Amino acid sequence: MIITTPKSWDEIKLAIERWNLHKLIVVSCGGCAAKCGTGGTEGLEKLLSFLKTLDLKILASMVIQEPCDLRNLHRDFQYVDEEINQTDGFVVASCGIGAQVIGDYFQKPVVITTNTIMMGETIHLNEYSNRCVACGHCILNETGGICPITLCPKSMLNGPCGGMFQGKCEVDNYQNDCAWVQIYNRLEKLGKSSLFAKIREPQDWNLRRRINLNLHQERKFFYSIIDHHNENQKEESN
Ligand code: SF4
Ligand code: SF4
Repeated sequence: MIITTPKSWDEIKLAIERWNLHKLIVVSCGGCAAKCGTGGTEGLEKLLSFLKTLDLKILASMVIQEPCDLRNLHRDFQYVDEEINQTDGFVVASCGIGAQVIGDYFQKPVVITTNTIMMGETIHLNEYSNRCVACGHCILNETGGICPITLCPKSMLNGPCGGMFQGKCEVDNYQNDCAWVQIYNRLEKLGKSSLFAKIREPQDWNLRRRINLNLHQERKFFYSIIDHHNENQKEESN
């Protein structure tokens, strides 16, 4: 889940003023942001009561299930054509992805009301743990299911570093367990401690920076590699 926290009302007000928004459409994400309380009906109600204290005209307000999905924008905005023509811009209670998609789609200013913090595991409502930074080349299969890129502040691929002391990480003054000690303990528990000794080559960080992704093409490429591999195996066994 993408975790968001709310921006302060002051920051939101300043952004509305900066973009000269007087006639607004307010959009709240019904997906991840709703679960974080920054979006959904709860987030929308809080936002609307704040916006009503300002000298603004709210043309429309709505909760959209995942505004990061263009298909949902097509579906839900078809009934507010007139308001879209009139609006100066959007106030969006979603993660950075939803807000960018809305801005691109309508080519109008967007004021985002949240900070996107991480992709996290939900421990309890309002308590999350950072688990993945979408590096583009997942190495969980080698690390016993623990991500060193996310959990290690230095994203070490071969750890621990010299800053580990008695299993703790030097960053943040030895409060947290070293990611690589956690990995070692997990691998040992799973009977795979030999994996710990593997030297990992540097990551291809280009994979993390892919701006656009055509998953359809990627899948075709991926499956062609598997087919090729299977054909070679068949030939070898004949
Ligand atoms: S290795 Fe990369 S893709 Fe896998 S969990 Fe860590 S950051 Fe995410
Ligand atoms: S002590 Fe461990 S978690 Fe901390 S920076 Fe070094 S390898 Fe990473």
